[in-house]
Amino acid sequence: MRIAIVGLGLIGGSLALKLTEAGYSVWGISRNPATCQEALERGAVQGCGTELAQLTLFNPQVVVICTPLEQVLATLAALVPYLSPQTVVSDVGSVKQPIVGPATALWPLFVGGHPMAGKTLQGIQGAEANLFLGRPYVLTPIPQTQPQALAVMQELVAAVGAEVVLADPVRHDQAVAWVSHLPVMVGAGLIAAVSQEGNPDILALARTLASSGFRDTSRVGGGIPQLGLEMARYNRQALLAALRGYQAELKVLEQLIEGEQWEELLQKLQRVRQEWQQFPVNQGAP
Ligand code: NAP
Repeated sequence: MRIAIVGLGLIGGSLALKLTEAGYSVWGISRNPATCQEALERGAVQGCGTELAQLTLFNPQVVVICTPLEQVLATLAALVPYLSPQTVVSDVGSVKQPIVGPATALWPLFVGGHPMAGKTLQGIQGAEANLFLGRPYVLTPIPQTQPQALAVMQELVAAVGAEVVLADPVRHDQAVAWVSHLPVMVGAGLIAAVSQEGNPDILALARTLASSGFRDTSRVGGGIPQLGLEMARYNRQALLAALRGYQAELKVLEQLIEGEQWEELLQKLQRVRQEWQQFPVNQGAP
C-alpha cells in the first residue's frame, strides 16, 4: 500500500517511521525542505516533496493529514484536486467533531483518527517508530463513512502496533475531554499554582524537592502550549464540563479537610484508589 503523510511533525514523522518499518511505501509532504531531508535520512520516507501537487507522482492509496488541527480542513480542501477517487484520507487531530463531518463532505473516503500517544516534543526530531505501540488509536466513523475506507484505516492502525478503538466523534470528544484535555489543564493549573508561591525560599525548596509524583502529575501541563490551546478551542464545551466536574471534586476534598472529616476523607481516597485501578493504563502500575 502507498501511504502519504502530510506534515512530518511528531505524529506524522512517527507514523512514517513505523509504516516504513512495517514494509509500506511511504511518502512525505512537508512545507520545509530540511524536514524532508531529515525524514529521508532517517529512513522515514522513500520520497518527500514540499508541494501537495507532488502527490500525483506518488498516487497514494492513503493520505494521513498530520498538521495542527486548525489546518486539517484547509489541507484536505487543497489536497482534493490531487487525489485519485479511491484514495482514503485520515487525520490525527485530538478533537474530532469539528473535523469529521466537514471533512467527509469534502472527501467521502475520509475517516477521522486520533492516536492516543504523544510526547512533550514537537517536530520530526521527536518522532519515534514505537510511539503508538500498544496505545489506543481511535477511529471515528459517522453514518456517511465508507466501510472500505474504515477497513483500510483499521489495517494501518494495526500496522503501527496500536489498538483500534471505534467511537463516534461526539463520544470521542467527551471521553478525551476527561482523560486527555482535562489533565493538560489540571497539570497547567498545578504548575501555575506552585509557581505563584510568594516566598522565594519556599519556592526554590519546592522545586528542589519535586520528585516523581510532581513530575507525573504536572508533565502534560508543561507540554506544547499550542496543543493545549487547540484542545480548549475545539473541544470547549466538553472541556468546560470536565473542568467543572473536577472543580466540584476539589471542593469536596477541600471541605473534608477543612472540616477535619478524616474518616470520610479516608473513605473517599479508598474509593478513588479502586476507581484508579479501573483504568487499563493503571493496571499493574505500582
Ligand atoms: P508537530 O510536531 O508540531 O507537527 C505538526 C506538523 O504540521 C509540523 O511539523 C508541520 O510539518 C505541519 N504544520 C505546522 N503548521 C502548519 C501549517 N500552518 N500548515 C500546514 N502544515 C503545518 O505537532 P504534532 O504533535 O505532530 O501534532 C499534529 C497533530 O497531531 C495535531 O492535530 C494534534 O492534535 C495531533 N496529536 C498530537 C499529539 C501529541 O501529543 N503531540 C497526540 C495525538 C494527536 P511540516 O513542517 O513537515 O510541514
